[in-house]
Amino acid sequence: MAFVHDPRLSRYELHPDHPFKPLRLELTRSLLEHVGLLTPAEVVPPVELDEGALLAVHDPGYVAAVKAASLGRPGAEASRHGLGTADNPVFPGMHDLVSLVCAGTVAAMDAVVEGRALRAVNLAGGLHHALVDRASGFCVYNDLAVAIRRVVDRHGLRVAYLDLDAHHGDGVQWLFYDDPAVMTISLHESGHYLFPGTGHTYETGKGAGRGLSVNVPLEPFTEDGSYLAAFEAVVPAALRAFAPDVIVLQAGADAHRLDPLADLALTLTGMAAAYRRTVELADELTGGRLVATGGGGYDPYRTVPRAWAQLWAALTVRSVPAELPRAWADEWRERLPSGVELPRRALDGPDDYPPQPKRAQVTRRNQVVADRVLDALTTIWRDTGLSTGAAGRGAAAR
Ligand SMILES: [Zn+2]
Repeated sequence: MAFVHDPRLSRYELHPDHPFKPLRLELTRSLLEHVGLLTPAEVVPPVELDEGALLAVHDPGYVAAVKAASLGRPGAEASRHGLGTADNPVFPGMHDLVSLVCAGTVAAMDAVVEGRALRAVNLAGGLHHALVDRASGFCVYNDLAVAIRRVVDRHGLRVAYLDLDAHHGDGVQWLFYDDPAVMTISLHESGHYLFPGTGHTYETGKGAGRGLSVNVPLEPFTEDGSYLAAFEAVVPAALRAFAPDVIVLQAGADAHRLDPLADLALTLTGMAAAYRRTVELADELTGGRLVATGGGGYDPYRTVPRAWAQLWAALTVRSVPAELPRAWADEWRERLPSGVELPRRALDGPDDYPPQPKRAQVTRRNQVVADRVLDALTTIWRDTGLSTGAAGRGAAAR
């Protein structure tokens, strides 16, 4: 198993007041070390990445604009590319830093497809909103798309991308919308309520990618049971139909109940169950090969480190002890904002949150959506010959 780390990656601070907190990476790594789940032998650095890998996904004019902005010379075209906004402020060294995030996700992918690790994670990655020529939603370059594009082009592999961030994985979806080698699946809070406003059930791919874009928009206040039921109704069937060679999991941690930027209401127990189920599906379908990234997650002290500790535990088929070491909280107390205390338990307690008042209604609506998604896609897959799970498999260079 490979855990990508570079101290520079935790400097991805857009602005001191920005909700995207790089400290969550350090807190997660520190927690894993305190519970004995991360050893030096598992840590790998980002690869050396040439600019061609970025240009295989992003528009050259956009990359040039990011570079100019990184040097403190944002041109007139910066705002056209979504740079210099409240969501995507420009900062010195931005190009190098976001290139390094891409290099980290590529390192995770390389470790897996070259057989050095069965599963790998780059928690600094998961910048799923970045578009061809535009920064969006705290994301400048799309590390996921860079890594996926490279493995499709170099190795001819079929990649299934599963996005569990609370926000729709729009950047990755649009970058591969007509690509027969990539299936994208996103479970997210419905775009009717949340940024980026896409990820509707009717976004199913086009051309050679028809039927390969899968969206499960969920109701605000969706809890574990309903979330996992929707996951189970759609994700295994989609993955089995597509028969990928490798699965990429974007594990944004903002679906948790305490996240301030989204309205899903998962607990760490539900999130961990989804991670473990994804690992099981990789075991079933790809010989275990799975590349994971972080993503969103704006409750940086209580939620994100614990969620991503569960992710790493799932990838390495181990478990996080129920009681977290006091030494972890002690080590960080001085460096966190005053009054912030790191949690003592690995999971949320059963009585931490009252049931959501609209639970029955939310559950019913999610079930209707999941059934509708699967019905529509099954029809398309039958049409395109994908339903047997064998259509593309023979075509892939394995
Ligand atoms: Zn998000």
